[in-house]
Amino acid sequence: MTQSIRQTLKRVFGYDEFRPAQQEIVECVLAGNDCFVLMPTGGGKSLCYQLPALLRPGVGVVVSPLISLMKDQVDALQACGVQAAYYNSSLSGAEARRVLAQLHDGRLDMLYVAPERLMGDDFLARLATLPLALFAIDEAHCISQWGHDFRPEYRQLGELRHHFPAIPIIALTATAEPHTRKDIIERLHLGGARSFITGYDRPNIRYTVVEKQKPLVQLREFVQGRPDDAGIVYCLSRKRVDKVCEQLVAAGFSAAPYHAGLPDSLRRDVQERFLFDKVRIIVATVAFGMGIDKSNIRYVVHYDIPKNIEGFYQETGRAGRDGLPAEALLLFGYGDIQVARGLIDKTTNPDHRRIELHKLNTMVGFAEALGCRRRVLLGYFGEQPQEDCGNCDICLNPPEMIDITEDSRKALSCVFRVGQRFGAGHVIAVLRGSSQERIVRLGHHHLSTYGIGADRDQDYWGSIIRHLVQRGYLSQDVGDYSVLRLTDAAWPLLRGERPLSMARPRTRTGPPKAKGGT
Ligand code: ADP
Ligand code: ZN
Repeated sequence: MTQSIRQTLKRVFGYDEFRPAQQEIVECVLAGNDCFVLMPTGGGKSLCYQLPALLRPGVGVVVSPLISLMKDQVDALQACGVQAAYYNSSLSGAEARRVLAQLHDGRLDMLYVAPERLMGDDFLARLATLPLALFAIDEAHCISQWGHDFRPEYRQLGELRHHFPAIPIIALTATAEPHTRKDIIERLHLGGARSFITGYDRPNIRYTVVEKQKPLVQLREFVQGRPDDAGIVYCLSRKRVDKVCEQLVAAGFSAAPYHAGLPDSLRRDVQERFLFDKVRIIVATVAFGMGIDKSNIRYVVHYDIPKNIEGFYQETGRAGRDGLPAEALLLFGYGDIQVARGLIDKTTNPDHRRIELHKLNTMVGFAEALGCRRRVLLGYFGEQPQEDCGNCDICLNPPEMIDITEDSRKALSCVFRVGQRFGAGHVIAVLRGSSQERIVRLGHHHLSTYGIGADRDQDYWGSIIRHLVQRGYLSQDVGDYSVLRLTDAAWPLLRGERPLSMARPRTRTGPPKAKGGT
């Protein structure tokens, strides 16, 4: 058996060797068992169901959430001589009938199908009359509300086990922390499945987090140091993608935008140019990257904080698939967290809201970590590395703690003096003794705190105030003016009864180029 597996691996896919875990998974499915596969992006999940689908009698039914990915996969399989097709809402009536005819004639090795199509009554009834090799549920985390990409149409897949008790089900995902993992297995009724969990670590990726201050300048500095490298810059909104991309292009960089608001033809063109190194930098929303098979992406920048660690991991994981040194840079701005929290507050389902908030907070925890970033990241996915990684900003350049007791008192008392009615911009202007017309008009140049912070620049005071907010000494309104107020905790600090220190803010986007890694 092992012999014929290897022969098929070579003959159909052209590979000499299996990647870690692939062979065991293939053998497990071939033996007719259910499997749960957790493997990082780029690990080679597709092969785990494609090979058994070819070797077992009958058609392998693959559930996938994205229509565009189905087409890519099917094209690639057909190019290898595999009889593959897809069945989803993008097909015309005639095309759909042709696929069904192939299916009934036993002329398909593999059929990719959208979950809502699969679970329609007719379709299940059809399948029940045919020999089936397996069911593969790709992106299985979509079934769980704990996952970062819950899709209601995945829910019904839970009934598959009941309808087809004898057909092996293989569920695959790249990003499932322990909660989601448990949830997937329960919802798909895979209690008896063998789990294959391969490591999450991507040692060649260097993680760096800097405080977002002048993000366009910070980004320019970063990409300037890497003129020949391909990279992706992720932003949270289409508007921001357009703006950042324009700025990069205006500054002479080879950059192109990518988001769901652009015409298909343009997106395809951008993707193509990126694949063939005709454009260096893609500025994109998270819509970009699924199914992109470009191994020499050297860096991924997050211009805005991602909503959760799963997304961050998946997006940064697109860098350095060739195993050579690569970088992941996160620009971390406290204002962005407020925006993200505001969006989550609009979520109507209270369970979703709670989960999303928890996930965002964990993401913030990663960004604020004072210890090895990789430990935090891997810890989230349930791995406990023995040692610090030596290839993240914290390991390479441990945080320096600075005493901010006095400066915190200055800032807090200034917030108090302006009547707890202003945001950080105004408080900083008063601290620094600005002669803005507004300050004079309000009479704030007569305050005792006017100009007591003139020895420090605006960014420094920004960091102090953010730190005070983050540590709960100041509260900040979520509204337009972000008014600062003292909390009860502020008083002991203000009275000088308690010292305060913080890590020196990191704003430099790091040394020009990552070295080391594997
Ligand atoms: P995933 O779905 O886990 O992100 P893919 O199945 O898309 O990963 O595989 C990622 C890349 O690895 C693809 O380019 C694929 O052709 C390649 N690959 C998979 N298995 C092997 C193997 N055994 N040997 C060499 N390359 C492989
Ligand atoms: Zn580290």
